[in-house]
Amino acid sequence: MDREDRDVKCSLAEAKQRKDDTREKSSPPQLTPARQRQKTQQKQASEEGSKVVEESVSPELTSWIKLNAKDLKIRLTDRRWAAEVVNDFRDNLLKFLRCNSDQPFFQSADFLNSGSYFEKVKIHSPDEFDMMLKLQAPTRLNMTELDGGLFYRIDLARPTQSPIRAFVLENGCTLSSNKILSEMYRLVRKFLKTYKVPDEGFRWEVNRKRLHSPAVTLSLCRNEICSDELISVDLVPALEVHSSQGWPLAVRNGPDVDNWLGKKVRQEIRSLPCFFVPKRLKGRSLSEEAKESWRISFSHVEKKLIRSHGNKKTCCESNATKCCRKQCLMLLKSLIEGLKQRFPKELDHLCSYHGKTVFLHTLSIRFDDSMWARQQLPACFLHLLRAMESHARTGLLRHFFAPNCNLFSPALFPRRALAFLVSALEEQRREGLPLLRHPVSPLRLMSPSGDTSSEISTDKSSMLTTVPSLDTAFMYTLVLLFAVAVVCVLLYM
Ligand SMILES: [Zn+2]
Repeated sequence: MDREDRDVKCSLAEAKQRKDDTREKSSPPQLTPARQRQKTQQKQASEEGSKVVEESVSPELTSWIKLNAKDLKIRLTDRRWAAEVVNDFRDNLLKFLRCNSDQPFFQSADFLNSGSYFEKVKIHSPDEFDMMLKLQAPTRLNMTELDGGLFYRIDLARPTQSPIRAFVLENGCTLSSNKILSEMYRLVRKFLKTYKVPDEGFRWEVNRKRLHSPAVTLSLCRNEICSDELISVDLVPALEVHSSQGWPLAVRNGPDVDNWLGKKVRQEIRSLPCFFVPKRLKGRSLSEEAKESWRISFSHVEKKLIRSHGNKKTCCESNATKCCRKQCLMLLKSLIEGLKQRFPKELDHLCSYHGKTVFLHTLSIRFDDSMWARQQLPACFLHLLRAMESHARTGLLRHFFAPNCNLFSPALFPRRALAFLVSALEEQRREGLPLLRHPVSPLRLMSPSGDTSSEISTDKSSMLTTVPSLDTAFMYTLVLLFAVAVVCVLLYM
């Protein structure tokens, strides 16, 4: 989610048009050029989509994809121990914040369950957790857009005596993202002075602050001097703007889910509160206000969309109506992780949020539940993969909630990296997706829970994945053997 950044400026005319659209609900909305382009693109993609599903997938690839989807499911059991440790940390931190009188603004904090651990699509590592700490803005705020709709300056609409005033800049109204994040660091450090991990022999460490990260990152390590990180937690303070204030203009229309989930759900989504996380805009020689920027976060909505994803309201509620959407997302994330491990430098700009964005666009285009039938998993996943490839090839991946932001714009994703991504994805498809399989995390090798099922799955996957290129080599050998056999047969004939 770290790179769901920014790009194209939203013109005043477009902004006004959007405002008019929201007012005139009875008449069909007039499309802005951006929306029109999106619609045309969606139509094309939809037409392509139906073709792809009809295309046959080889039996080898079918079983390879199914095998990996099954393995991802097994991995979910690995996280039991990690989840217990993290939940204990979370509960005690919250108790501490509520009783800690030296920072009253954090006393009303609460956790917002977001991030993929709670969406149940965290992939290989049971060892990465995201948590958002909800901080309530007590008063009306003015949100000023700093780019295409993701980054904002936040000002208090009027002076206040509430504890939030400790985080305001000298001008008396701008809310400082740096001050909030620094305070979060201070509070976590203070908490850790007295907190003990329930499993003796482990400790939490606060990582060094990173310039563009909105999170306080913690690592769980063994009590040895040079211990590897076993669990990583990103703790992100998130400022909650009351829903009565509405979403900022650039995102006010809400995501385009009309065909997929219906207009009513879109309205519901737009009535949810919005959140801002303390994240600094990228770039050099930033103005003072840009250094105090906040980025809007939709992870609570994303969670809702991924959980209730059916076009009919009954999808995945019983075994009879289960679809393969979530599995497709897990596989795509898995491949992205695999690609990033294999090409860390070349694909540094790629992150799982790109996959999630492609997934959400694909869901809103291929909205019918029957297009995601469980047994269609291999074809559906390949379709999703082609969609990713096509976004990369055209250099256009609109942020799902802020369509004027292109996540594949040259400013956010250098052209060379994008070209590399296109060829890497092509290669994966050509070679039968060898990078779907992924090396194991230190936590899984350790298997602290003594859970045999996790040990079995660890053994299996470590055998298959220690050297990712082995899979490719093995496939080449098979092809070669087959070719030799054919030649022999032909010679004897
Ligand atoms: Zn479903």
